[in-house]
Amino acid sequence: MDNTPTVHSIEASYIISYLMGAGKLNIIDWCRGWLLEKHSIAVTYEGMPRGVVKQNVLLEWNALQHSQCILLTQEKQCLIHKFRPLPCRAYGVLKMPELYCPRPFGKDESAGNRAYVGGEPALILMKETREFRKRLKERNPDWAQMGFLPTMIFRQARELEFRGMIADNKIASAKLIGTDFNTQELFQDRIEESPVNLLKA
Ligand code: SF4
Repeated sequence: MDNTPTVHSIEASYIISYLMGAGKLNIIDWCRGWLLEKHSIAVTYEGMPRGVVKQNVLLEWNALQHSQCILLTQEKQCLIHKFRPLPCRAYGVLKMPELYCPRPFGKDESAGNRAYVGGEPALILMKETREFRKRLKERNPDWAQMGFLPTMIFRQARELEFRGMIADNKIASAKLIGTDFNTQELFQDRIEESPVNLLKA
């Protein structure tokens, strides 16, 4: 997809277990590379967003969401297809901007023009997604943390190094939204909403 999806921390751990078994741990280094890369669309370096996320950081987050996933090959194959996260599994099913729809916009989509299945299947999926997130939070709030795919994979795989990179201000703030409790309460439930709505807020 031409999107960098957001994933729950527990999904990132699941992906890492697959990468270990498949001998693909180099993908964790790709994630580090993505975090350290000076993307021209994410230029704000103010550390982990705390409290209310500033609009310029939200704009950068939105732009990053529309950048190509690092796990998509040149042949348009997903390197973790069987283990892909919820937004990728829900692709084309749920209509935005319904709350809890986990998937970002696809190519050429907008809030008013979105491919989806809708109807009863979408309602069932929305209900299941909502209950899934509720159960995750009840069992372990950290499992429900949700951030960009490369960020969460690296966070789960190399926590100490990840924290060190944040302390050294090496990661653009937009890449860190939703990945820690600092922003979770204010932002986490809205991270799955339409970026258009987020920017209006
Ligand atoms: S994880 Fe796979 S399915 Fe999801 S956006 Fe990346 S390449 Fe596409």
